[in-house]
Amino acid sequence: MKKPNVIQTILSVAACKLTRGILRHTGRGGTAVPGIVAMKLAGNILSAVTDGMQIVVVTGTNGKTTTCNMIEHACTSAGCNCLLNKSGANLLHGIAADLISNATWLGKPKYPYAVLECDEAALKQFVSYVTPKAIVVTNLFSDQVDRYGGVENTLKEIRTGVEKSPASVLVLNAEEPLSASLALNVPNKTVWYGLDRGVGTRGKVDLSDAGVCPVCGGEYAYDFHIYAHLGGYRCTKCGYHRPEPDVCVTSIDQMTSQGTRIHLRADGKEQEAQIALPAVYNVYNAAAAVAAAKAMEVSVVKAIDSLASVRSSFGRLETFDLKGNRLQMILVKNPAGCNQAFSYLTSLDEDFTAVLCLNNRTGDGHDFSWINDTNYEMLCSDPHVKKIYVGGDRAQDLFARLQRAGASEEIMELFTDYQALVRLLEKESRPIYALPNYTSMMELRQALMQATGTKDFWE
Ligand SMILES: [Zn+2]
Repeated sequence: MKKPNVIQTILSVAACKLTRGILRHTGRGGTAVPGIVAMKLAGNILSAVTDGMQIVVVTGTNGKTTTCNMIEHACTSAGCNCLLNKSGANLLHGIAADLISNATWLGKPKYPYAVLECDEAALKQFVSYVTPKAIVVTNLFSDQVDRYGGVENTLKEIRTGVEKSPASVLVLNAEEPLSASLALNVPNKTVWYGLDRGVGTRGKVDLSDAGVCPVCGGEYAYDFHIYAHLGGYRCTKCGYHRPEPDVCVTSIDQMTSQGTRIHLRADGKEQEAQIALPAVYNVYNAAAAVAAAKAMEVSVVKAIDSLASVRSSFGRLETFDLKGNRLQMILVKNPAGCNQAFSYLTSLDEDFTAVLCLNNRTGDGHDFSWINDTNYEMLCSDPHVKKIYVGGDRAQDLFARLQRAGASEEIMELFTDYQALVRLLEKESRPIYALPNYTSMMELRQALMQATGTKDFWE
C-alpha cells in the first residue's frame, strides 16, 4: 500500500489527536473512533507512524496485558523509550489510535519501541500494515466461544497473521501445544519460553484444549504437567514434542501474595530472579517478557532484573487499600484463568474473603456456561475461605454453581450494589480477593476508586 503524502498525513494525525482529545474530555477512554477517522483520511497512516519503530505485538488468550506491562518495563529499564497501548483497546483501530496519537504532527514516531496488546483476530489485520520485530503468543484456552467459534478457530486467526509476517521473530510458550504449533511450516525465527519439568504446581490438569498432534493427528502423552493442557507433551505416533525453552524457569523457590522468587536460565546462564507479582501464570508471563526482550535484542539481564519492580496493571492483581485492609483484584474470564486464580488463592496460607462477580454482557461474551467447566470446588474446599460475596447480573447462577461446588450457605452472601459492598468490605479484617469478569470488574473498580480516591489510568 502506498505511503500517504504530507497533507494526508498531517490531516490524518490531526484528526486522530483531535477526536481522541474530545472523547477523553467527555470521559471516554480507550476507543476505536480516532483510529477509524485517521485511517479513513489516510489508508496507510499506520506504516508512516511506525516507520523505523521496533514493535512487539502480544496476543493469546490469557496474560496479554500483564506480559505487555512486563515487556514495557523491561524496555524502559534497559533505556529504550517504549510506547505501550495502555487503554486496553486491542483491536486494529484502537491500536492505530494509540500509535497515531503518539506520533508527531508530521507523522513521525516519537518512541523508538512499542509494545502492543493485540486481539487474536486483529493480528492478521495489523500485520497487513506493519511488520513487528516480534510476535509473542501467551497461550490459547477456550474463551468467549460465541465470539470466535472455538479455540481451533482462534489458532487459525493467529496463524494467518504469522504467515503474513515471515520476518517477525515468534516468541512462543514451549509447553502450550496449540500456540507452539505456530512455529511449524513457517520461516520465522522462534524464541521459546517455558517452565522446566521439575516445576510442579497445584494447578488442575485439564486436557480439553490440548488438541491433537499438528503433524500427524496423533494423541499427546505428557511427561510432566504444569496446569490445564500445559506441560511436556509428546505425540505418541510421530514423536513431535515440546521444544526445549530458550528462556526457562528452572525452579519456583517461594511465592507469597507479594511476589515470587524463581530461578531462570537464559542465554545459557542460570540466575535467581524476583517477580513482583504472585501466581504461577505470572511466572509464565515473566518468562514470555524475558524471551521477548531477547527477540527484540534488548538486554536480557536488565529484563530479568526489571521483573522485581514491575507493577500490576488494571485489574490484574491490582491492589486497593481499603482502610488499611488489602483487596487484590484478579480479572477472570474463562475456566483456565479462573482455575489459575483459585490455585493461587488456595496456595496462600491465610484466611480470606472472596468476592465473585459475573456479568454476561457484550464485553464478557453472552455465554456464561464456562462457569460449569470451572473448578469452583477448589475454592470451596479451601478451609481458609471465610466469606464469599456473590454479585453481578448472573449472581443467582453463580450462587447456584457455588452451592453445587459445596460452599456452605452460611458463608455466602448475594449483593446487588457495588458501593454498599465496598462499605461492607471496609469493615473486614481479612485480606480480600475479588474475582470479577470484565464488565463487572469495571463496576467494582469504579466503586473501589470512589471509596479509595484512586484515579483512572488516563486521568
Ligand atoms: Zn504426531
